[in-house]
Parts: sequence; structure tokens; C-alpha cells
Amino acid sequence: MKPLAVADTPAPDKAAMAAAADTAPAGIPSCFHHDTDGDGIATLVFDCPGSRANLLHRDNLLELEQQLTDLAAEPGTRGLILTSAKESIFIAGADLRKLRDADAAEVDGLIQLGQRVFNLLARLPFPTVAAIHGACAGGGFELALACRHRIASDHRSTRIGLPETQLGLIPGWGGCTRLTRLTGLGRAVPLVLQGRLLPAPAALRKGLVDQVVAREHLLSEARRLVTTPPKTRHLPLGQSCLNLPGLRHLYHRLALRRLRRRTRGHYPAQERALEVMTTTVTAPVERALERERLAFVGLIDQPATRHLVGLFFQREQAKRLTVAGGTPAPIERVAVIGAGVMGAGIAYWLAARGLQVLLQDVADEPLARALHGIRKRFDDAVRRRHLNATEADRAFDRIVAASQPVPLHRWQAIIEAAPEDLEVKHKLYRSLAARAAPGTLWCSNTSALPISQLAEAAPDRSRFVGLHFFNPVHRMPLVEVIPGDASSPDAVASAVALVQSVGKLPVIARDRPGFLVNRVLMPYLMEAVRLFDQGHEAPVIDGAMLDFGMPMGPLRLLDEVGLDVALHVGQTLAPAFEHFPPAPLLLNEMVDAGLLGRKNGRGFYLHQSGAGALPRLAAMMQGRDAREPRPNPAAVAMAGGRSDRVPVAADAIASYLAALLDDEAARCLREHIASGADAIDFAMVAGTGYPPFRGGPLAHAGLRD
Ligand code: NAD
Repeated sequence: MKPLAVADTPAPDKAAMAAAADTAPAGIPSCFHHDTDGDGIATLVFDCPGSRANLLHRDNLLELEQQLTDLAAEPGTRGLILTSAKESIFIAGADLRKLRDADAAEVDGLIQLGQRVFNLLARLPFPTVAAIHGACAGGGFELALACRHRIASDHRSTRIGLPETQLGLIPGWGGCTRLTRLTGLGRAVPLVLQGRLLPAPAALRKGLVDQVVAREHLLSEARRLVTTPPKTRHLPLGQSCLNLPGLRHLYHRLALRRLRRRTRGHYPAQERALEVMTTTVTAPVERALERERLAFVGLIDQPATRHLVGLFFQREQAKRLTVAGGTPAPIERVAVIGAGVMGAGIAYWLAARGLQVLLQDVADEPLARALHGIRKRFDDAVRRRHLNATEADRAFDRIVAASQPVPLHRWQAIIEAAPEDLEVKHKLYRSLAARAAPGTLWCSNTSALPISQLAEAAPDRSRFVGLHFFNPVHRMPLVEVIPGDASSPDAVASAVALVQSVGKLPVIARDRPGFLVNRVLMPYLMEAVRLFDQGHEAPVIDGAMLDFGMPMGPLRLLDEVGLDVALHVGQTLAPAFEHFPPAPLLLNEMVDAGLLGRKNGRGFYLHQSGAGALPRLAAMMQGRDAREPRPNPAAVAMAGGRSDRVPVAADAIASYLAALLDDEAARCLREHIASGADAIDFAMVAGTGYPPFRGGPLAHAGLRD
């Protein structure tokens, strides 16, 4: 985004003039058309030509304004239904590309224009209904909020909400103002601060829509709402009480405290949204909209906003990534070999996304454990309403398990997730080769073994690629695709398409030790162990990185990964790069002493699975969260740290550790480990949770905008 001239005030003259001088552009393809039936009910259809999505921008806002003005002037109009012609999108929001390329005055003008058009809609002298099928996000939902009523289809594609804060912005076209008045602060604030899109039933429960119906009844029920509008609903007493000045002030303070505990103050958009909503909920609409606009314009050039918007585009790019010269083969049936942590996670994810899965291991016991875990995960998805019970049962039934060698001819891809040992994997490939079809795509989920070397034991090296999912698979969106030196473009394209088809985000990484993400992480993790060994406390080291914005400190992360796994990766990488020191001795000693991390409850911390009543009570009395693991005294005792060490400030620890991430990312950039700086930063955010507001380690190091 081009820089803003004045951070907190609108750039007055140019913006106001731009907004005031706007007229519907001539010669631009029309996005709206309307029909009015014999009863005077108009249906206004949004349909951006040549696009799968409806996005709002200056030109079609002006067109909408003209349409609304015409409708208001048409004698005999008794009501309006606003809907979309797209298959799975109502309105996906504002066109971010246009917003990104606009200067501050243009952004301000655009906000003024949107507010003006939505005000026009809100003030039409007849009932208006938004008939929502498909994604209704950001500006799309703000437009729906300006209608008197909203009705949504119960289809899976219907998702409703205001995700602007996830991009470092706030809803600026009346979203803050109208949502708080519709649902009350107590419901509106979490929706805006979390920026989640809700499925239709949840949107109904939260009061975002008035009714949810089957898709085929959407327009007829919308018509019924226009002709017999329901009585105006009043806010429940609990919600309206929050509007009282004293309670509102208290609510703001508590919400801000909770927010800062989560964001550590790194995300200004959330704070501005909270402030705008709580301070304007009882103000006249015009004044509230003015506050919204000023807050929006004040955020547009914040570094966090630039980085979050940049990451949005990188994510979109990953979704559309293609491989030059490669034709992807569609893959619907995948054999996952090895039913451990990763195999089970991958099998769950593929089945949940509609693929048929064979899950194979060498014995019944690991398979039974994996299936039990997968079933639990599906039950969890039902509890969280990500799937309904039938969908979960069907997905679970798509997994077949085998502990004996079975024919693999009908499986189009093999994903190997066996132990991280070259010999074991080679032996496994030789035994699988005779049972697999010649055209099968072979993938290894190895963390660090060279793909080209692994491929030597595969029947066709050109069909072999690395496919590195991250743990836990259901949470981590990134998958590294690693071509070996003989991988064909078709094989790489197929692997990329497979990743995309199951809703993960691919990044292509070079076949160098540790590929991209593990390589960048490893010096940072190993140095955190060394700091611990020097006597710095685990919560201090981890706390420093939490303050930096990491979702988890490095020692907690090591516990999650497994100290044995991390040690193995560290030992693989150290000899490969001159600048990598050997893995710290302490890590060897901890693994030898059976301190493996979360998997056996003991690592740098003591992990309790489902703490019982007594530990919970004890934790409460000590002012701790019982779910938070406590430092492990055995690990502290093993560390060589001396009590006379000089204490180091947490921010010095954070700068030191963050610089290691920056340096290694810069080396990867120089060695072309990924396609460029954007891809490296995106992979670190998507693969490790590197603080998105910082844009990635290269942006942090000043090596990228
Ligand atoms: P794991 O030890 O949990 O599981 C390995 C499974 O493979 C076990 O169930 C074992 O019984 C099975 N197995 C062994 N030999 C087999 C054979 N011949 N045929 C079929 N199954 C066999 O290991 P994991 O953590 O799931 O790791 C698997 C792979 O994924 C490794 O290459 C690892 O480096 C990689 N990886 C691990 C993580 C992680 O965080 N654990 C993350 C990314 C990648």
C-alpha cells in the first residue's frame, strides 16, 4: 500500500472530492442487474462478469449506488432482495488488490464511497433482504448488514463474517457500527476480533442472520421476508446492559486485557476495532461511521497491515501454484505407509477431505492406536461442528487399514511415513515396489533425509518426490514439496495439486538437508537448548519468544516435536553445513535419560494429560493454568547452568534467537532453497507460526519489504 500522508486523520480534500465527484463509470462491464415483479418486489443480482467471485470495488460500488437510486425512484417498488449469481460466493469482500495499490487518499475515498452506498441501501423506504448463499465476507457482510433482514442458505459453502482484523484492518463500511447494533457488543466484539467466518447455523445462533433455509428455498423465503417482515427484534437484556456507559467501559477494559494476553499488543487492528465498537455503540450512526473510517485509514499503512495483506496474497498464490512444464494427475486414492504420529495425521486429513485412504503399518497395534486417534479426531470435528456426524462417519469409512502386505495397484499415490532411517525406508520401498502400479506417485514425508538418495530405492526415480507435512497435520497448513534430482515436472505438479486438493498450502523447496522450514528452525531451537544449558529458565526463554509473537516458545516446541526427533534432525543437519554447531550434548543426555517431550510426558516440561482435580486445584492455588506444563526439575538438574550466571533481559534473548532465524532464512534465500524471499517468509509463517504481523524472518531482517 502506498504511504498515508497523515496517520490518524483522513486526507481531507482529495478524498472528499474523490468521493463526492464519483459517478458511475461508463463502458465498464455491469456487475448488477435487477428485475421487478408484478408485486413490486425487486431482485438485485450481483454477478461480476468473467469471475468466480463477487468482489466490491469503486466501479461496482458506483454502479450499485446508481441501481439503488433508480430503484428508490421507481414508483411501486415494495421491497428488494439482494442476491448473487455465483455458485458458491455471495460477496467475498472488498477487492484487496485494488486496496493494496491505492494511495491513502484513494483508500479514504473508497471507504467514504462504500459507507455512502450502504447508507443509501439502509435508508431505502421499503423492506430489504440479503439472500445469502456462499461466502459472505467482509464488505459483503457489511452490505448484508445494511439490509433490514438477512436470510442464508444452509449450504456448506455459506460462511458469514468480518475477517478484516486478520488483515490488519477493521470493518470500515459500517461493519463495526451495524453489527454492534444488531447483536450487541458481547457478540459483535469476539466476531470482529477473531475474524472468523461462521457457517449458516452458527450465524443464526449469533443473530447475524434472521433465518436459515435450504438453498432451493432461499429466494422464495427471502420474498416472504420482504412481504411479511418479522417484528423488529430487541437486544436481549444482557446485551443491551453492556451499552450502559459504566458497563461498556468495564467491558472494554476486560476485553482489551484478554486481547493483549493473546496478541501481546502486536495487532493494532484488533485494538482499534474494539475501541471503535465500544465507544460508538450508542453514538449516532453517522458519528460511529466516521470513527470507523478514521480508524480504517489510520491502519492502512501500519507495518503489521502491510505484512498481513502481503501474506494473504502469498497464501492465494500458494493455492494456485503450478509447476512449469508439468501436468498434474488427479489423485483420489492414497496409500499411507506407516501409521505413527504423521501417518495417522495424514490419513485423517486426506479422508476428511474426501480421499480414499489405505493406512498400512507392520503390526496391528500401531494401526489400532492410529485408528483410535483418527476416530477421536473425527468426533472432535463433529463437536466443533466442522463436520456433521454422517460426514465424519463417511470420512472415517474411507480409511482402510492393513497390517499385512496388500496389493497397491489401485492406489494412485503412496505417502511413506515410516521411521526416519534411510535403510528402513529403502528396504520398505523395495518391498512395496512389486505391489504398486507403474504410474504411482511416490512421496516421502521425511523431515530431513535427502530425497534424491531416498529415491534410489524407488522403482521409478522420476515419480518420486518429498512431501513434507508438518505436525500436527490437522493444524499446520503448509506442506513442503521437494523435487529430487530426477523428479519429473509431472510428478512435482501432481504432488502440488494433491496438496492443494486437500486444502493445504504447498511451497516448493530444494532438496538440501532440512529443506526449508526445519533448516531455518534448527539453529534457533538448538541455541535455545544451549541457553537452557547455561542456566536460563525454560519459561524465561519461551516467554521471550512468546513476547516476540511466536505461538509457542522453542523449548515447548521441542517437547511437542519430540526431543529424539529433533536430535535426529539436528544430527543430520550439523555435518551438512559448516556454520551449524553439533547438537548440544544436553539434548543427547536428555534423550538418553528418556526425556522425550510431550509424547512421554517428560521433556523440558512435565506434561500432564487431562490434569485431574487435585493437580488442577494445586495449580489454581499457585495461580497457574493447570493445562500449562510445569518446568521439569529433572531437565533443570541435567543442565550445566550455574546459579551465578548473569541474568539476561527477555528482549535480549528474543533478539538473539530471532536473529538466528533471520540469518538462516537469509542463507536459504542466497542458496535458492525456495522460489524467493516471499516464499521463504510465507513458509515460515505457515509452517512454524512465525509472527504473521512481522511478515516473516526476511521481512524482520529488512531483506524484504
Ligand atoms: P512414528 O515413529 O510415530 O511412526 C512410524 C510408523 O511407521 C510406526 O507406526 C511404525 O510401526 C511404522 N513402520 C515402521 N516400519 C514400517 C514398515 N516397514 N512399513 C510400514 N510401517 C512401518 O514416526 P513419525 O513421527 O510419524 O514420523 C514418520 C516420518 O515423518 C519420519 O520420516 C519423520 O521424520 C517424518 N516427520 C515427522 C514429524 C514429527 O513431528 N513427528 C514431522 C514431519 C515429518
